[in-house]
Amino acid sequence: MEHSKRHFMSRRGFCLCCISGAAIAANGWLTPREAFAEARGIVSLIKDSAATSPIVTHKLRNNVSVLEGSGGNVAVLTGPDGQVLIDAGIGVSRPQMAKALADLSADPITHLINTHWHFDHTDGNTWLNLAGAKIIAQENTRKYLSEVQRVEEWDYNFLPLPSGGIPSEVFADERNLRLNGLSIDLKRYRPAHTDSDISVTFGEADILHVADTFWNGIYPFIDYSTGGSIDGMIAASDANLAAATDKTIIIPGHGKPVSNRAELREVRDMLVAIRENVAALKKQGRSKDEAVAAKPTAAFDAKFGNFVIDPGFFTRLVYEGV
Ligand SMILES: [Zn+2]
Repeated sequence: MEHSKRHFMSRRGFCLCCISGAAIAANGWLTPREAFAEARGIVSLIKDSAATSPIVTHKLRNNVSVLEGSGGNVAVLTGPDGQVLIDAGIGVSRPQMAKALADLSADPITHLINTHWHFDHTDGNTWLNLAGAKIIAQENTRKYLSEVQRVEEWDYNFLPLPSGGIPSEVFADERNLRLNGLSIDLKRYRPAHTDSDISVTFGEADILHVADTFWNGIYPFIDYSTGGSIDGMIAASDANLAAATDKTIIIPGHGKPVSNRAELREVRDMLVAIRENVAALKKQGRSKDEAVAAKPTAAFDAKFGNFVIDPGFFTRLVYEGV
């Protein structure tokens, strides 16, 4: 079995956090044609699931809340300048999302910030733009959302978002906003989960949204196809730890949506330990399959291995980058 090709397919194909992991975890490795059909099925599955999933609202502080249940965790700041969303969730959740937003406040939707380009964070861009949101992102996010993403192995083209869903304001490294009485600082990470990731800091509220550089309590996806790497994930974790105190509320891209420095540190230490284990195996000349068979994640699987990125898949992602 040629795992390198299949691995490439998995990360390049849906690259979209939940999808590739589910394809592999549920079915083992697939031929390209099977994976293509399977992935289409899984996109439908995720959309169908998002279409009916309830949205759970967690109120934090200073009129910042987080909405859970449509793709990545969505933060919302309300106030007289309008609702400011961090990430868009999946488009088919619109009815539940619109209701959750209306329940938070009667303010119009005015701003949407994308933390990176992945589907489960940007699929709702189009309806939110129609609802009134100006979309802001790091420049690579606009680039990826504007282009056809060609996946040769699957003979599949991911189409660009409609023009309204493409971010209209982009920045390279940093952007500072002041809305609803809060300073909102957008800051690009060095390449980590992708090369388009940004953090969002709500200054006076001491709340930090760290995008997909932090998956709380679950193994993360790493998208090598658009610049991600295990070392970048570790560096971003260190940057997040440095940016937070024990009082900071941290919003992860995925996993339990209201988090803190202690949980972040636990994930950072897990990443470092598994990286070392996998690097040692690779240095010994073990193949990717042999590294997976050696179970370098075993000490962490009970806690972190229960979501779509299973231990074997996470080992492959780390192996790729060491
Ligand atoms: Zn992502």
